[in-house]
Amino acid sequence: MPNFTDRALLLKRTPFGESSLVVQALTERHGRVGILAKGAYRSTSRFFAVLDLVDTLELDWQSSPRAELCTLREGSIAVRRAAIPCSPRAFRAAASVLELTDITSRAGQPEPELFALAEGALDRLQRGTEGHDAVLARFELGLLRVLGLPPALESCAACAGEAAPVDAAGTRAAFSAGAGGRLCRACAEEARASGRRVGTLPLAVLADAQRLGQPDATSSPARLVKVRDFVERFLGYHLSVRPKSHASFLASPNRNAPESAE
Ligand SMILES: [Zn+2]
Repeated sequence: MPNFTDRALLLKRTPFGESSLVVQALTERHGRVGILAKGAYRSTSRFFAVLDLVDTLELDWQSSPRAELCTLREGSIAVRRAAIPCSPRAFRAAASVLELTDITSRAGQPEPELFALAEGALDRLQRGTEGHDAVLARFELGLLRVLGLPPALESCAACAGEAAPVDAAGTRAAFSAGAGGRLCRACAEEARASGRRVGTLPLAVLADAQRLGQPDATSSPARLVKVRDFVERFLGYHLSVRPKSHASFLASPNRNAPESAE
């Protein structure tokens, strides 16, 4: 039976039987795998206290053509991220990164970009040098790029032309998740006529989202909350399931609605 060794992030842990654990892991080169860790809850097990969320692990597993689950042979911690479980906010953000990775990864398909993106977000949460809204917004924009669904932030999503402001004050652009992002006035009217929902977003929020594509770009905490708000709504529109970890943040009314002060 073939053996594999790879770096892995655990996406889900499910107790199995008396003392075993089933983990869903995203590996760096082999994509997503379901692995049974026999006896992982026994204190004498060599996997005991190894299979934690948020760490990067080095796993050695065996697959069998007759079994749905692979079997763990060896496991060790490659990168320990001990600061994340100590902070409830950091842990919630990490859980959101892992949930989104779980929703968007597919079995039997290498996803090195997704792995690097998720690992990078966990590293940032471990370092704690930037706010969780920034880490999440950056991860979610990166995820949209990996999925081939990056929102148009500067030019028109439909015609690639200039997408000038559409309000009298000149501070807001037309935006439609269904149409792929920012729209020029003509394409916004066309999208509306074809039944799509078209709203508007502050130019400042779109500009800050664009800047988050650079690794060290920063923004004000208040602005980052607004970036995260539209990015999570955009992501929610394009994913077939609504992430549980988005529910409480998105329970607030749209933070980019026209009447809110920008
Ligand atoms: Zn256009």
